[in-house]
Amino acid sequence: MTPAAASGARAAVRRKLVVVAGNPNTGKTTVFNRLTGSDQKVANYPGVTVESNRATLGLPGGTFVSVLDVPGTYSLSARSREEELAIQAIAGLAPFDPPDLVVLVADATQLSRNLYMTLQVLELGVPVVLALNMIDALEARGERPDLEALRRELGIPVVATSAVQGRGIPELKLEIERALAAPDRARPGWRWIPDGEDLEEDIREVAGALPSSWTRGDADRSRAIALWALLSLDEIDELESVPQALRDVVARRRELATRIGRQIDTEIIHGRYAWIDSKIPSFLPNRAESAAGPKRTLTERIDGILLDPWLGFAIFLVVMGIVFQSLFSWADPAIGVVEVAFGWLGSVSRSWLPQGIVQEFVEGGLIAGVGSVVVFLPQILLLFFFIGLMEDSGYMARVAFLMDRIMRAMGLHGRAFVPMLSGYACAVPAILATRTMERQRDRTLTMMVIPLMTCSARLPVYTLIIGTLFPPSKALGTLPTQGLLMIGMYLFSTLTALVAALVLSRTLFKGPPVPLILELPPYRMPHWPSVVRMMWVRSRSFLESAGGVILVCTVALWLLLSFPRNTAETSRFAAERAQVVSLSLPPGERDARLATIDGAEDSLRLRSSFGARLGRTLEPVIAPLGFDWKIGIGLIGAFAAREVFISTMGVVYGVGDESDEESATLREKIRSETYADGRPVYTPLVGMSLMIFFALACQCMSTLAAVRRETRTWRWPLFLFAYMTVLAWIVSFVVYQGGRLLGLS
Ligand code: GDP
Ligand code: MG
Repeated sequence: MTPAAASGARAAVRRKLVVVAGNPNTGKTTVFNRLTGSDQKVANYPGVTVESNRATLGLPGGTFVSVLDVPGTYSLSARSREEELAIQAIAGLAPFDPPDLVVLVADATQLSRNLYMTLQVLELGVPVVLALNMIDALEARGERPDLEALRRELGIPVVATSAVQGRGIPELKLEIERALAAPDRARPGWRWIPDGEDLEEDIREVAGALPSSWTRGDADRSRAIALWALLSLDEIDELESVPQALRDVVARRRELATRIGRQIDTEIIHGRYAWIDSKIPSFLPNRAESAAGPKRTLTERIDGILLDPWLGFAIFLVVMGIVFQSLFSWADPAIGVVEVAFGWLGSVSRSWLPQGIVQEFVEGGLIAGVGSVVVFLPQILLLFFFIGLMEDSGYMARVAFLMDRIMRAMGLHGRAFVPMLSGYACAVPAILATRTMERQRDRTLTMMVIPLMTCSARLPVYTLIIGTLFPPSKALGTLPTQGLLMIGMYLFSTLTALVAALVLSRTLFKGPPVPLILELPPYRMPHWPSVVRMMWVRSRSFLESAGGVILVCTVALWLLLSFPRNTAETSRFAAERAQVVSLSLPPGERDARLATIDGAEDSLRLRSSFGARLGRTLEPVIAPLGFDWKIGIGLIGAFAAREVFISTMGVVYGVGDESDEESATLREKIRSETYADGRPVYTPLVGMSLMIFFALACQCMSTLAAVRRETRTWRWPLFLFAYMTVLAWIVSFVVYQGGRLLGLS
């Protein structure tokens, strides 16, 4: 069978494929959701759909077709992997099947820019139905498009839609059905032809270098792809499937053009816009009157304030302050509820399961492990709620705009700001959020600094150390030392992250900066269902990607700290317990005594556990930082998840499961712990060194797993772990030894 016959046979059996494409933030996903009844994330922020989603659409006539929602792209000139995806899907390059129809979603209020991409897709010769979306917003401005003129000039079906209101969707389905039945309806009878003999020559040369699997022997298609290649290929694009021979031809044509003072991309881009601009008056006949007049829109007036370099920045800081304050104060009760619930589950396991190793595993390994993941959920939900509000209202785009200068000075992408902000809650969702950046370089660089931000798992550790080792006195007369220390740790982490970005971007991540192409969408009332849906989707992905790793590690840690077992000791404690029970004491006192015995047993088991041996092996390495082997065990535990440090210390000091950062007994034991020579183990200096270590070290399996998933290599997670651990060791060493030299204790 010839290839053509083979693909023909496949086409006969496969479901027809409709691709939904268009510029960013034009409502593609909303249209997609309307058509297929799915619920993909929608946000008033460009760059939200970064992967393509597929669903099924039932047409009025009863047939079913596949619909693909692809990332938005401003044109068919690709810079990033997302845009590459979009182009591959539209042009039907591998790994996508050639689409039977492209539904181009255009923002009616930005018609001329949106038509640019429409022209490019038409050049490819793919059947197209144009959905002129956001028609409600256009009408609100008192404008009305001339759909007939659009149909005539473009030569394709055009439907006016308002995807949020559901208007025009039945008509769109009907047009899709008709175009699939008779593709020529949706193919324009004309091509846009650029002016200029030189450009013709460029196109011919490049078309000759195209792989035949791209052109499929179609001359018009070759021309269109050649134009695309002339605009898109350069040293910094990240397109993976482009043959080197093609790159060479494009580079040579560009060089030749520059020599005679031509600029190929300007010629192509201006040519297309010249055509569009000549037609716009017929597409939007009553534009002149409504666009006239100096009246500024509400969005423009709000932007006058929010984008002001000083006032806008001050407002932004206040907004952030409110978000953070509520992140801590509002999440607290919910965190308490989660803790109580898991404590209750633990006690249920005690009464349902016979005492023994299975019960201990269920309570100490499984329930505690799941609990340590779920405990983050309140803060993560809240953070995503705020991010959702900011995105959907359109404020997030302004924030990226405001932060672009600072971020760029540090070598970061303007959009790196949002992921770094999420890093204050948890690095795992923050790492997923780097997907909104175009280039792999920017994404990886951002991932390398996110884990330095003070995530919420460090908070309980700081609370324990500060509350235990630093007196609640007032520094500088009025300010509370403890609060200042806490703020200091946050500032320290933020500065370190920025400096690390600066250093990394000048060394490992060299590269020309990408301009932030960010269009500022109009402000809108947040669409509550999408905000809630996004909270759900992101939290689920957090639980899935972080949950597995944290769970496995907590269980592994439990095993390390619970074995080997000494049967003689176990029976001795069992006998002691039996004796207490036989004394017929009042229940309160009996339980207290039993708890003491449990604590002593845990503590003894821990001292002889594999974990303790590891801690002692580690001691020579961490002694210069002021840490003893018990802290070493805590650090091993903290590698699964930082807050595990507290429960590990609780076990180490034999206070049993009751320990949390408020536990007075744990604090007292830590304060009174001494070395053999009577020196206290924990001094404020040790506390400082320990906090610095926690601030800088990458003690988080889930973070590493997330980086591995996003970069698809082990290189970056290993690098991240290595550089943060070395940095943490060095800075803690300097702080501890420097402090001792200065005579601090
Ligand atoms: P995408 O980036 O192209 O996938 O766009 P989305 O579907 O995520 O939508 C972007 C924003 O435009 C969201 O805030 C939507 O609620 C909003 N939106 C989508 N369609 C319409 C429409 O027809 N009219 C109006 N006024 N807003 C819309
Ligand atoms: Mg989308």
